[in-house]
Amino acid sequence: MSAYLLFLGLLLGSFINLAADRLPRGESIVRPRSHCRACGRQLNTIDLLPVLGYALRGGRCATCRSRIGASSPIVEAIAGVCMAVPVIWLGPWPGAVAGLVLVACWGLAVTSLAARRYASERAAR
Ligand SMILES: [Zn+2]
Repeated sequence: MSAYLLFLGLLLGSFINLAADRLPRGESIVRPRSHCRACGRQLNTIDLLPVLGYALRGGRCATCRSRIGASSPIVEAIAGVCMAVPVIWLGPWPGAVAGLVLVACWGLAVTSLAARRYASERAAR
């Protein structure tokens, strides 16, 4: 149960990366499917594995070898920790609820930081 919740936290972390990447650009978080920004290749299951996918690919796109920001596995790992700590501490219930709240806060923080960075990059251009 705890392992399952940890994995859920990691998956949510992966979703946070997606939201932080797309929302500031005004893109949909549903479509298109996750793809490499550099070459457009659609990501497969291995690429999408939280943390592990990044490690297996050596932090690069498998097709064009362009670098994937080191922030992605870090964001995923922290989301996993946000979920795991309350579950271990409080038990699956109410730990899972506390974990989801923490992950949501983490997601908001990452997304708003990404939005700010994107806005300042655009202003600099
Ligand atoms: Zn690529």
